[in-house]
Amino acid sequence: MRKCLLCNAPLKFIKFKCRDGHVCKSCYEIVSLNFTQTIKSKSYEELIQLYKHHDIFQEENSFEITRKINQLILFDDSRKRFCLPNHPKYSNENLKPEIFPFSIIGCCTIIEDEEILNEKNKCLGTIKVTIFMKQENPVSRDIYLVKNPIEINSIAFKTMQILARKIKEEIETIQNGVISC
Ligand SMILES: [Zn+2]
Repeated sequence: MRKCLLCNAPLKFIKFKCRDGHVCKSCYEIVSLNFTQTIKSKSYEELIQLYKHHDIFQEENSFEITRKINQLILFDDSRKRFCLPNHPKYSNENLKPEIFPFSIIGCCTIIEDEEILNEKNKCLGTIKVTIFMKQENPVSRDIYLVKNPIEINSIAFKTMQILARKIKEEIETIQNGVISC
């Protein structure tokens, strides 16, 4: 019997094809980011990366998600912390998921870059949210909502614009100490 490429479980009727073999349903759920991404063209190496990423995240089980904005930012209101999953799709750096206390939140900016493609008269754009953390060595983290330029009139772009504003709003609400649970 064939085995799951990631966890070695024997595969029955339900299996999902990737470039180097098949994975079982529970692994598929993880590497397809809750069934939102296809894995057909992904290699073993790519999938195992996603799989490990998930594992690391699960280990932080003391983090209780009370609110979240998609998979972009998660909040644990009872412990007053937030988590940046730093998923490769939304991050430019190769970072593990990180947890920060509310108390070090600095400001938050949205940067939208737009460029006009003259030939087609289309306007493409990217969206990035940057959160600044006040600590001894200040750091900032970028969330790339739209990493590769897409048409700014598209629904995808507009959806991400709304999410970017939502993140900024949440961050500012926490900063102002008016957290409604
Ligand atoms: Zn599996």
